[in-house]
Amino acid sequence: TAPAEAPAKLTPMMEQYLDIKAAHPGLLLFYRMGDFYELFFEDAEVASKALGIVLTKRGKHQGQDIPMCGVPVERSEDYLHRLIAQGIRVAVCEQMEDPAAARARGNKSVVKRGVVRVVTPGTLTEDNLLDARANNYLLAIARSRGSSGGDRLGLAWIDISTSDFIVTECAFAELTATLARINPNEVIISDALYSDEVFEPVLRELAAVTPLTRDVFDGATAERRLCDYFAVATMDGLAVLSRLEATAAAACVTYVERTQVGQRPPLAPPAREATGSTMAIDPATRANLELTRTLAGERRGSLLDAIDCTVTSAGSRLLAQRLAAPLTEPAQIGRRLDAVNVFVADSAAREDIRAILRGAPDMTRAMARLSVGRGGPRDLAALRDGILAADQALGRLSALDQPPQEIAAAMAALARPARALAEELSRALDEQLPLIKRDGGFVRSGYDSTLDETRNLRDASRLVVASMQARYADQTGVKALKIRHNNVLGYFVEVTAQHGDKLMSAPLNATFIHRQTLAGQVRFTTSELGEIEAKIANAGERALNLELEIFDRLCGQALAIGDDLRAAAHGFAMLDVATALAKLAVDDNYIRPEVDGSLGFAIEGGRHPVVEQALKREGQPFIANSCDLSPTPGHKSGQLWLLTGPNMAGKSTFLRQNALIALLAQIGSFVPATRARIGIVDRLFSRVGAADDLARGRSTFMVEMVETAAILNQAGERALVILDEIGRGTATFDGLSIAWAAIEHLHESNRCRTLFATHYHELTALAAKLPRLFNATVRVKEWHGDVVFLHEVLPGSADRSYGIQVAKLAGLPPAVISRAKSVLAKLEAADRGQNARALVDDLPLFAVPSRAAAEPAMSKEAEELIAAVKALHPDEMTPREAMDALYALKAKL
Ligand code: ADP
Repeated sequence: TAPAEAPAKLTPMMEQYLDIKAAHPGLLLFYRMGDFYELFFEDAEVASKALGIVLTKRGKHQGQDIPMCGVPVERSEDYLHRLIAQGIRVAVCEQMEDPAAARARGNKSVVKRGVVRVVTPGTLTEDNLLDARANNYLLAIARSRGSSGGDRLGLAWIDISTSDFIVTECAFAELTATLARINPNEVIISDALYSDEVFEPVLRELAAVTPLTRDVFDGATAERRLCDYFAVATMDGLAVLSRLEATAAAACVTYVERTQVGQRPPLAPPAREATGSTMAIDPATRANLELTRTLAGERRGSLLDAIDCTVTSAGSRLLAQRLAAPLTEPAQIGRRLDAVNVFVADSAAREDIRAILRGAPDMTRAMARLSVGRGGPRDLAALRDGILAADQALGRLSALDQPPQEIAAAMAALARPARALAEELSRALDEQLPLIKRDGGFVRSGYDSTLDETRNLRDASRLVVASMQARYADQTGVKALKIRHNNVLGYFVEVTAQHGDKLMSAPLNATFIHRQTLAGQVRFTTSELGEIEAKIANAGERALNLELEIFDRLCGQALAIGDDLRAAAHGFAMLDVATALAKLAVDDNYIRPEVDGSLGFAIEGGRHPVVEQALKREGQPFIANSCDLSPTPGHKSGQLWLLTGPNMAGKSTFLRQNALIALLAQIGSFVPATRARIGIVDRLFSRVGAADDLARGRSTFMVEMVETAAILNQAGERALVILDEIGRGTATFDGLSIAWAAIEHLHESNRCRTLFATHYHELTALAAKLPRLFNATVRVKEWHGDVVFLHEVLPGSADRSYGIQVAKLAGLPPAVISRAKSVLAKLEAADRGQNARALVDDLPLFAVPSRAAAEPAMSKEAEELIAAVKALHPDEMTPREAMDALYALKAKL
């Protein structure tokens, strides 16, 4: 920070700088000076370090050098991007008048400057600063203190680059999972929450947290601030919000107004996100399943990357949103699947629509920029092309016979924007468009007669200059005389050095006024040139102003139908996702899942969407595997599969693929399987692999136990749980005991559909006691002492771990391998497995308050059936006898 006291020595400019700086605490100040944004004092030091740019100095302040650095205006977006990525927020301070105006006021006067916006991670609109494929959310958290410690939280999140505005309420316990799903780029909270230690662990996980004064989160003024923003007298007509939601929503709009310095980017009215309508997935599960990023933090290799065949960035954003929040309502899922199905069946329609979409621009973000005055001619062109593409798409879709609901909705949205706007824009805009409207030259000639006249005047004057050159050459007898232009001198006459003296002496010096002598040339102006220059400049300026007026008018017309344009953009995104998922389904051979309200879970021929693609690139086949966790007759809850098999056999892959198939089904996608029937999963848990979380000072084992605890405490009967290698991070017997108890708890208390992979073969003995536990194993073959992985999941249990064979494959020295073999032989003599089997008999079953108690006892009929089936000996029966037995069984029903 700059020293507070400002003695008389301050230059007027420094005085202005310090004033502006003081009004924007906590922000880096980009102070516009000509073609640069300059930074001073500590800001300069921070920026030079963060951006790797040179630190210089400029003048003195209280006897000390003032550190300074600068970034060129034309490359400033790039620098802003890097600062924001490092969590640094920036206030952009512009010159608010022409420097000539300041000079006219007098020598000492400084150009007026003001902050025009504050750039923060959650409030970006520029394409360069945004990831086209992801939403950029700003999220506000408001709290109301519950009486018995049960605090409620109001959440509101917006994307000003797309106008989305959503609110919800949640309990503190759900906060982490909710934030993980929304994945905001910036979170704003009150100072009070920021310093509340309860929030500390939550906030630590977030990319950028901005604490704000409490007035921003004032519930009493929330409604009024929202009304102001939406320019309505009451919010009742727009949205029905709880007080908490309104508080969070108001915090968002207040922050937007502050960062956009009074501009109000259009936002959709806040829509409540229905609670319970999406599958809950906590952050650890999202990370473990590599839904949008791999564990290494990259998009490549994630599920999203594997399934994203969209061709527009809005489509890609919508797909990412859907993946983050799978649905739990079978009818709603069915509607999405219907749409995908249409484009699976009709590949011509699919490819036609995709071709149209490929040419369709990102209308939503163009709109957002235009509405805050940051848009350019190309944004208008984007709207024109968008409307034309909507027309084309509609034409193609109307050829469909009875489009399902989701496609019909997209069609209705595409039909909304007025075609007149596109026609007007087509007439107005030139072929080649500048990025910035101030560059001018974007209005087509013939569109506006006044503009055409002014341009002609400007161009005619340019011709006059050309004829003047010929006249001056004649007059001076200097053939090589040239009239040139630069920004310092304006138009000037230039001759080579040898002719300079001639023009500087009488009589020519009456016309030619010497301005500059360079090494090879001498430069002059004339009063005539000065006049024509003013004319050209005036005409040029008038032409530009006319163009800007036209721009504003067109922009106004576009914004007036902003809702329609945004609806159409959303229609595009929906179509993009539906056609992209259809393409994926066709290319990778996916089928339509059956999703219902049961507790079933039956997948035949399932594959891992990401691993399959990776293997395909290497020309390797993926071995499909089935999985059935549906409740078996006589039971009301799903099954628990215990999967054993050596390392590298494919256990993790199998576990994950089943979770991913459920997830894909519930976002309304086809799935990699030959058949899939899935009863809605309301909550997905996974504990897969072990990653040290050293940043948080937790060991692998601690992380594993924290995650396992969350599952055992929270999973209900609709949950799907996958657990991999629980207890691996500790001593064998500790680990085995924990895994053992966890399985019993899952089976008896959680009673959820579960896949449990383990290297403790002892656990398979539990099948004898737990009726819904099913042992499965991944098959391997031994071949001349080596192990061959078949990646086939079958009923049964692995008898060995083949650890030594795997170690051999990995290239451990032969001496170590043979020594390990003899150690193993000794250990096996002590056989832990026997002990475990004895344990199953000795230990009473897990003593948890069992929900099984609520389950009615098995009916007499069922008992009889079981007895009858047990009495059969299929090996000793003829086919005829088997048939008879079947009929007899059927008759008992
Ligand atoms: P585990 O968890 O048993 O140690 P992984 O699931 O990590 O084994 O699988 C090891 C490797 O085997 C994977 O990287 C993958 O390349 C391959 N693999 C796994 N499952 C299959 C399958 N069903 N078909 C083909 N290859 C597979």
